[in-house]
Amino acid sequence: MSENLKFENIYCVGRNFVGHAKELGNNIPTSPLIFQKSNSAVNIKETIEIPSHKIIEHELEVVLLIGKEGVPKNHEEANTYISGFSTGLDLTDRHLQTELKKKGMPWFASKTFKGSAVIDANFIHEYECPQEFYLMVNQKIRQEGNLKDMIFSFEDIILHLSKIVDFKKGDIIFTGTPEGVGALERGDQIEMGFNNYPPKKLVVI
Ligand code: ZN
Repeated sequence: MSENLKFENIYCVGRNFVGHAKELGNNIPTSPLIFQKSNSAVNIKETIEIPSHKIIEHELEVVLLIGKEGVPKNHEEANTYISGFSTGLDLTDRHLQTELKKKGMPWFASKTFKGSAVIDANFIHEYECPQEFYLMVNQKIRQEGNLKDMIFSFEDIILHLSKIVDFKKGDIIFTGTPEGVGALERGDQIEMGFNNYPPKKLVVI
């Protein structure tokens, strides 16, 4: 990766955009819905390997890099824990997730498989995150996100998480997908990023 930093815990937020919660038939959460991927799922390569006989869906998300240890006490302090912004794909085995949800079981197996936490390792180190982000598949827009449409802000998410965990330098937070999730196919050409920033390009194999 481009920085001399090892990723630690991979936290994710579910249903953080109204459009996406609705497209999966879910209610709008009243507090951030947190789940995890295993650290071994991190994929910073230029390829996405889809497990055979599985339908894997893309969820385009803004990814936060946590830059310090500890627990913030308020929104202002929460902001100082972010050391970089990037985009990523929370790859999901949707059929398995639907089955697990029906049984009231954790989503873990549907969210964590080899390479399922796709991250553009070129983090942007600016005070504010660029507002708009996108995913193109085969030169066509698949997902477009705008931070103003998030139900919970980055600070809300960090403060909520800090009631549960102590942050480590190198923790990653996937902050939720806008609507437009869909299946990936072998051979798909992926481009994702913030508007007006260099994109990350990947190929599905
Ligand atoms: Zn997601």
